[in-house]
Amino acid sequence: MCGIVAYIGKKEAYPIIIKGLQRLEYRGYDSAGIALLDNGELNVYKKQGKVSMLSNYAETQNTKGNSGIGHTRWATHGLPNDVNSHPHTSTNGDISVIHNGIIENYAPIKAELISRGYTFQSETDTEVLVHLIDDALKQEKVNLSEAVRLALQNVVGAYAIVVISKDYPNQLVAARKSSPLVVGIGSEGDFYLASDATPIIEYTKQVVYLNDEEIAIVDLNEGLKIINIANQEKTAYVQELEMHLEALEKGGYEHFMLKEIHEQPRSIRDCFRGRLNVEEGWVALGGIKDYEQKLLNAQRLIMIACGTSWHACLVGEYLIEDLARINVEVEYASEFRYRNPIINENDIVIALSQSGETADTMAALTLAKSKGATILGICNVVGSSISRITDAGSYTHAGPEIGVASTKAFTAQVTVLTLLALRLAYKKGTITRKKFQSIIQELDAIPEKVQRILEKDKMIEEIAAVYKDSKNALYLGRGSSFPVALEGALKLKEISYIHAEGYPAAEMKHGPIALIDEEIPVFVIATKGTSYEKVVSNIQEVKARKGKIIAIVTEGDTQVKEIADHVIEIPDTDENLVPLLATIPLQLLSYHISVMRGCNVDQPRNLAKSVTVE
Ligand code: GLU
Repeated sequence: MCGIVAYIGKKEAYPIIIKGLQRLEYRGYDSAGIALLDNGELNVYKKQGKVSMLSNYAETQNTKGNSGIGHTRWATHGLPNDVNSHPHTSTNGDISVIHNGIIENYAPIKAELISRGYTFQSETDTEVLVHLIDDALKQEKVNLSEAVRLALQNVVGAYAIVVISKDYPNQLVAARKSSPLVVGIGSEGDFYLASDATPIIEYTKQVVYLNDEEIAIVDLNEGLKIINIANQEKTAYVQELEMHLEALEKGGYEHFMLKEIHEQPRSIRDCFRGRLNVEEGWVALGGIKDYEQKLLNAQRLIMIACGTSWHACLVGEYLIEDLARINVEVEYASEFRYRNPIINENDIVIALSQSGETADTMAALTLAKSKGATILGICNVVGSSISRITDAGSYTHAGPEIGVASTKAFTAQVTVLTLLALRLAYKKGTITRKKFQSIIQELDAIPEKVQRILEKDKMIEEIAAVYKDSKNALYLGRGSSFPVALEGALKLKEISYIHAEGYPAAEMKHGPIALIDEEIPVFVIATKGTSYEKVVSNIQEVKARKGKIIAIVTEGDTQVKEIADHVIEIPDTDENLVPLLATIPLQLLSYHISVMRGCNVDQPRNLAKSVTVE
């Protein structure tokens, strides 16, 4: 949360920073701000609202300068107004700071600084940083980078920061702890700094990912220097970015979310490319090869995640338990880390996170590691923090996901977990060769079947129009379609602000059935398989109370068609793979309802992607 971007070099900084902030807007859109250094003047512009509000205002001002910092905020401390916007500036106007994260001990620091005569403009935790740096410069008579280092020694919490100073026009100082920060090395001796690589990609592919407690000093004369908070010099490992610019644009779609929904035939295929061979009959996950034996011997796997990724873990639980017969426990990362969990050296903890930066998941992994567990990661963003702290892992290869509500990253996570379940089942011999071959054949056909569902978009839009004004909605499913129901409900809540709940279909009669009336739409995953007849009975129970049924059924279904108000047919597949197909119409339904209600599909209120605060 919060996007930070900065530039220093020979180019004009403003266009680079504004464009970068637009790319990072998925990380927060409460306010945006910029500080530009032009001929010894530090010009700071801040505006509540979107980056466009900032650019409309800034463009009436002086936007010149070859060095600058910019921020898009997801507020944690203090209202999302102009004053609380970043950058925060020292009282003398010499230094500005942008920050992503939370300074947990800001209150005592603030009290101490106030008692020493400092005045605060904002209600943010961040503002203590700029006064601490200013204080170190004055009291210790040190240079800017040393002042930043000394200041950071006082703070507890998470930060990615960039500091700009009038007195150091050739320099920017950045640092990170628990919040991400990437340094881009330009070809003209210039430098880019950002929360992720998306603002940097069109200028350079050479990047350095900062590690926790590292400080990067980018200097136009002296180049890049990295030290840690204990003042030891560190080596900068330069990596080559693999991202492509087109992946960051809407490509003719009205919204990123719609583009990402439609990308799923490709993203699912990219996810299993090189990991699945139907002719030769094998599945492999190269990234975790070294831990395969450990996985096979494991008594249990603990899967941790937040939000949509947690739903993918639940699908994984059904698949791994059913196919590979290994006990799986799924945990919310935020609960796991604070409830003194029982973990030992034989445990394997698998974390799922699209961004690979989710703060709670990171903290849970760190805890598991400290107790001796093996930690594995399944992330989408290459080079992200989780992918770097884990012992091994698998990337989902879904490509950049910009829409705040996750779509293609979810199906890619489910694909990786399906591959994992199949690989373990194959090695353990818990499924027959015939069944294995038939599932991988079906998996190979999934992209084409997803495409067929996407072609029903018009029909799904018509159903959306019927239910767009609903106040509440229920989503029901059984087996691995239960997490799909949870995910369907979350998607609707996130982007259309309709209250929705996902339930195991059989649980409905233990409470939610009281909500059924003529108004409430009930979305049911009623595909053919083990619990089909049971789900049909659950549908009857809803109809008996005059509820409206929108059912996701297998092509050719006749039974549900007779009782449901609407049916959306999806192609037949192996029961284990139904989540990959049943998710798609639910994504489209939420998307269309959101558009019809006039909501901001890609940037829903109060939300942000990449949740880097706890
Ligand atoms: N804590 C800072 C603020 O509220 C930064 C928030 C964040 O990174 O999400 O302004």
